[in-house]
Amino acid sequence: MEREAMEYDVVIVGAGPAGLSAAIRLKQRAAEADREISVCVIEKGSEVGAHILSGAVIETRALDELIPDWKERGAPLKTPAGDDSFVFLTKRRAFRLPTPPDMNNHGNYIVSLGNVCRWLGEQAEALGVEIYPGFPAAEVLYAEDGRVRGVATGEVGVARDGSHKPNYEPGVELRARFTLFAEGCRGSLTKELFERFDLREGRDPQSFGIGIKELWEVDPAKHAPGRVLHSIGWPLDRRTYGGSFLYHLEDNQVAVGFVVGLDYQNPHLSPFEEFQRFKTHPAIRPLFEGGRRIAYGARALNEGGFQAIPKLVFPGGALIGCTAGFLNVAKIKGTHTAMKSGMLAAEAASDALGAGEAGLDGYETAIKSSWIWDELYRVRNVRPSFRRGLWLGLAYSALDTYLFRGRAPWTLHHPEPDHARLGKRDEYPPIDYPKPDGEVSFDRNSSVFLAAVAHEEDQPVHLRLKDPEVPVKINLALYDAPEQRYCPAGVYEILRDADGGNPRLQINAANCVHCKTCDIKDPTQNINWVTPEPGSGPNYPNM
Ligand SMILES: Cc1cc2nc3c(=O)[nH]c(=O)nc-3n(C[C@H](O)[C@H](O)[C@H](O)COP(=O)(O)OP(=O)(O)OC[C@H]3O[C@@H](n4cnc5c(N)ncnc54)[C@H](O)[C@@H]3O)c2cc1C
Ligand code: SF4
Repeated sequence: MEREAMEYDVVIVGAGPAGLSAAIRLKQRAAEADREISVCVIEKGSEVGAHILSGAVIETRALDELIPDWKERGAPLKTPAGDDSFVFLTKRRAFRLPTPPDMNNHGNYIVSLGNVCRWLGEQAEALGVEIYPGFPAAEVLYAEDGRVRGVATGEVGVARDGSHKPNYEPGVELRARFTLFAEGCRGSLTKELFERFDLREGRDPQSFGIGIKELWEVDPAKHAPGRVLHSIGWPLDRRTYGGSFLYHLEDNQVAVGFVVGLDYQNPHLSPFEEFQRFKTHPAIRPLFEGGRRIAYGARALNEGGFQAIPKLVFPGGALIGCTAGFLNVAKIKGTHTAMKSGMLAAEAASDALGAGEAGLDGYETAIKSSWIWDELYRVRNVRPSFRRGLWLGLAYSALDTYLFRGRAPWTLHHPEPDHARLGKRDEYPPIDYPKPDGEVSFDRNSSVFLAAVAHEEDQPVHLRLKDPEVPVKINLALYDAPEQRYCPAGVYEILRDADGGNPRLQINAANCVHCKTCDIKDPTQNINWVTPEPGSGPNYPNM
């Protein structure tokens, strides 16, 4: 069957803050110049926002620039961030620390980023942007001269064995003068572009964290809209980077989450169980007692910062938002930088289309003279300093922030990728996690149920193993099969016969919440996450 093709000026992959801001800016530019620019956004989630998972406390800096009258237009930013606290937890106690300047949230808003994206999607459509949710971009299209020529959406109706089912439909080719990749952290097509155009040459490897989040409805007497709490310390050991966030939104809702740096070394560590354990702390547990858990999900985030930003432009397109890695890890915020990068790429694309130019080099230059560059430069040493443990990281960060004000005459580096940091099973102690109590802590299965994952069972497994022998011969033998623990959705299971022999890996692909952790942390990089059949994945209501 032939693939249908559609032509646009600009195709954008991903309807997150970066992709939608780029789409809006392109149409604003077209209106200002009184000319047509055709813009199409494709999104793998079943609707805009369905795959968005964030904290989130957001800065409005980019939104103010993009849509200055966002309040009048009813943007879902309803809860100004108020009381900020930063605490260090031991097993039984909580000690309040001074809030670092980057974590001061005065002037910011606590939001559901999914709902902000739904609203941005409406603004984009009102300007004439075509948005197609439920369409993953599965393939990059290249022109004969090697430039990116667009993307193709995934096929529907392919059985697990590769044969075509009666409902088979080929993908659609979306061709464009420029393609902007806004896939968010660890984009699956972006990975291919990194290789093909050597975009990471001379840059530090990207470093990541996994963020696991739940949304709760709590007792109104315990709810304080605008309250923001971040914690470090227990239950993580001093060598593992991470901590919690706890944000009180509107309607008695509390967003609670836990981030673990994926450069962790102990292969027995389970980020999911660390999060469940965190909620049982005596200073945290009372908030959730008597409450109701509404939603669950997980997503990787970039922590590499300034040193890890790749080359952003290649023939025929550019990378925007977290797929490039603009998250400010000292603030745990990447929405404002994602939006601004999308806007700058849109301006470069609109200029290039107007002038009949073939490249987007103006975007790379614009990023370097924008506030994004300055902001990320100032905090560049914070995250790498934690590689030597919590106390040295805190001490160094205080020095870097207060004394050097981010202008220290050196740059600390991320020497190796996260997967290379994983230690062997015998070198680290196993961790004895408590059983979930079913009141504030839960198991994986009941959690994944709250992610409302849709997934046609009879389709090729989208977690592709380069070598099917590696999970048992290497991962189980040397690392005690860490994929069973780092996957927050119970996708990977080692099964055995009744006598305990014949270990084999089972992949429950239908549970996948698209967090991308396996693609990042698998110690031999044997797992390749590719887009599943259209319509698959979580259906987050308001994460
Ligand atoms: C746990 C956690 C907490 C966070 N807290 C905060 C916070 O408090 N404040 C803050 O500002 N930031 C926070 N962030 C970061 C913030 O969420 C990101 O910086 C921001 O979402 C990046 O926007 P983006 O548009 O680049 O990517 P995303 O928001 O990830 O959006 C990418 C979109 O592209 C789609 N997509 C991906 N690949 C394809 C494909 N091949 N085809 C079609 N569609 C595709 C995805 O489904 C998704 O909708 C947090 C992140 C996490 C994980
Ligand atoms: S299979 Fe991979 S991408 Fe899917 S939920 Fe598990 S770790 Fe995340």
